Amino acid sequence: MTEVIDCVAIGDELMKEIIAEAESLKARGITPGIATLLVGDDFGAKMYRGQVEKFCEEAGFNYINENPPADVSEEAVVEIVKKLNANDAVSGILPLRPFPEHISDSAVINSIDVNKDIDCFHPSNMGKLALGEPIFPPATPSAVIEILDRYAKKQNIEPKDFYEGAEICVVGHSNIVGKPLAFLVLNRNASTTVVHVFTSMKGNLEKHTNMADILIVAAGKADLIGPDQVKEGAIVIDVGINRVKVLDDKREPVLNEKGKPKTKTVGDVSFDAVKDKAKAITPVPGGVGSVTNRMLMKNALRACKMRQGLE
Ligand code: NAP
Repeated sequence: MTEVIDCVAIGDELMKEIIAEAESLKARGITPGIATLLVGDDFGAKMYRGQVEKFCEEAGFNYINENPPADVSEEAVVEIVKKLNANDAVSGILPLRPFPEHISDSAVINSIDVNKDIDCFHPSNMGKLALGEPIFPPATPSAVIEILDRYAKKQNIEPKDFYEGAEICVVGHSNIVGKPLAFLVLNRNASTTVVHVFTSMKGNLEKHTNMADILIVAAGKADLIGPDQVKEGAIVIDVGINRVKVLDDKREPVLNEKGKPKTKTVGDVSFDAVKDKAKAITPVPGGVGSVTNRMLMKNALRACKMRQGLE
């Protein structure tokens, strides 16, 4: 029978581990801390900022909110980063994108202290990841690995036997999710295939996804992956988060009390249709996203311990 992987439980377990470690650091007079940098008021970035603040509160971390207005100069933003680099209360810095157009991502990212770059944005940290020596594996890709590791452990499978030579297909090659994820599984000696929009345009998506023992989908396209794109008995990890209209039996939008179309959150995988074909699958909501922020906090803990010479 298909296992729907309980990512919420994994996230809760991780949070307990993080809180316990933060408490033991506190007993030694050390408090980890995260600073977020949000320029302007992008809605998605604001939501993410709020979540990070909430988790910091829960874990007893320091939290600093830097939120200059959208018309701030690039120079001033870089100055904020330098100030955070020098602040001992800050173990990790998280730039929340998108930035306004006049601020270049690389100007901000390149100014972050590599030892505080807890989501692995800096080219030096991405380089280390590619070489198989990551300091801070980025949050979303490492959430996927954490879920897979815990799944394997539950099945009593050694990590070596789980990853080595396994056919793993990553759908999506963004710098934030797909590419670093491909490095993480390649570093575990999986036979790694990365597919993207050009694979789909050539009509070759299915050819690759159907070979995968582990299929990881991060494309941001609802219903991209149906049962025809999944091998019988595969493990399917759905990273995608999409807002779609709720449809009735006639495929007409269902309206809310204000007369506007009702919406819901779904992944990239048609969950109900794929579920019975897969050996294990992550749902959306309640999937990878339940683990992602915890991985960021784990990285902040690590950054804090490294700074204190404890790691
Ligand atoms: P992104 O930057 O838009 O990248 C999407 C990737 O998917 C691109 O590489 C794109 O290829 C590929 N793609 C798009 N359409 C495709 C198609 N029809 N067939 C095959 N590949 C296709 O997005 P992202 O930042 O990587 O995020 C991916 C998804 O994960 C989004 O839904 C996002 O909301 C979600 N996400 C979830 C979490 C979490 O914690 N659960 C965290 C971060 C992101 P090209 O580059 O060639 O166009």
